[in-house]
Amino acid sequence: MLGRAYLSNGGPLCQEFEGRLAESLGVAHCIAVCNATVGLEIAAMALGLTGEVILPSFTFVATAHAMSWVGLTPVFCDIDPKTHNLDPAGLEALVTERTSAILGVHCWGRPCDVESIGDFAKARNLRVFYDASHAIFCTRKGRPIGGFGDLEVFSFHATKFLNTFEGGAITTNDPEVAERVRCLRNFGLKAPEMTIGVGTNGKMSEVSAAMGLTNLEACDTFFAANRRNYDIYREELSGCEDVRLIDYRESERNNRQYVVAEVRDRDRVWNGLKDRGIGARRYFFPGVHQLEPYANSSHHIRGPLPETEALCSRVLALPTGTRISPEQVREVCQAIREILAN
Ligand SMILES: *Cc1c(COP(=O)(O)O)cnc(C)c1O
Repeated sequence: MLGRAYLSNGGPLCQEFEGRLAESLGVAHCIAVCNATVGLEIAAMALGLTGEVILPSFTFVATAHAMSWVGLTPVFCDIDPKTHNLDPAGLEALVTERTSAILGVHCWGRPCDVESIGDFAKARNLRVFYDASHAIFCTRKGRPIGGFGDLEVFSFHATKFLNTFEGGAITTNDPEVAERVRCLRNFGLKAPEMTIGVGTNGKMSEVSAAMGLTNLEACDTFFAANRRNYDIYREELSGCEDVRLIDYRESERNNRQYVVAEVRDRDRVWNGLKDRGIGARRYFFPGVHQLEPYANSSHHIRGPLPETEALCSRVLALPTGTRISPEQVREVCQAIREILAN
């Protein structure tokens, strides 16, 4: 790569990475970006959004911030407690004449109800796009995440299932959207001396793409480790009434990146684990609607979000991945049982 002296600007490694991803996700277009947050900003601009965008509050703050950063108003929808995803039943009450889109988040890689969201949006002439940061190599009814809505945005941050140090990708089957995304990623340039309007710098560097290509080859190993860890957690915590692990459907593919539990007395467990040097995360906590600049703002909060708040108070993401051994997973489970027994 260094010998070739092609370090960025859609070089050969970036193109190869995009091509591999498009093929494995079954989408026509994949545009790699520098991170998912900038990807979401580019997405909103590419879709020509205005006014308000409806999205869940149970997500990472970047989902909402990306919309705010491009001058849109995030409006928070409650979630379905069974799936942790945006509840389509809550949409109707939130639509105003300013609404231009719905932004779903495939939380833990478990897909949104894309059929209901899509039908709702179509009937009201709204755009639909997804924050698929968690959802690389996950499916909805057997179809890979990546081809739903007008476009989807993945994150390849160091903490995600597939990592390029920092990075992301926008996938779509719409050639016009893809062309706009490509221009916006590169300063709005359509040709060397011609812009379509304001653009940003959202390009993925060659070193990130190289990391992505290498990690693509290791995905089976990552998946096997995650799967093994999840199964141990499931078995070890099965008798523990105060801890409920989220389920993954056997009929869908999921990268199992997250071992998430709903825990009674969550903060006691979280603190107890911290005292033993075990880094579980309160993820997501607090709800984005409780963070600035959204907290207590009627621009963003149009009604109570009881399911989001209840889940934020219970949720705990447990350590997993290739860097934790089966023995250590059992130790975490033992620690949880001890904390809850005291
Ligand atoms: C990680 C994450 C992001 C941000 O991704 P970056 O690539 O770090 O910008 C956005 N949304 C969700 C749901 C995430 O988990």
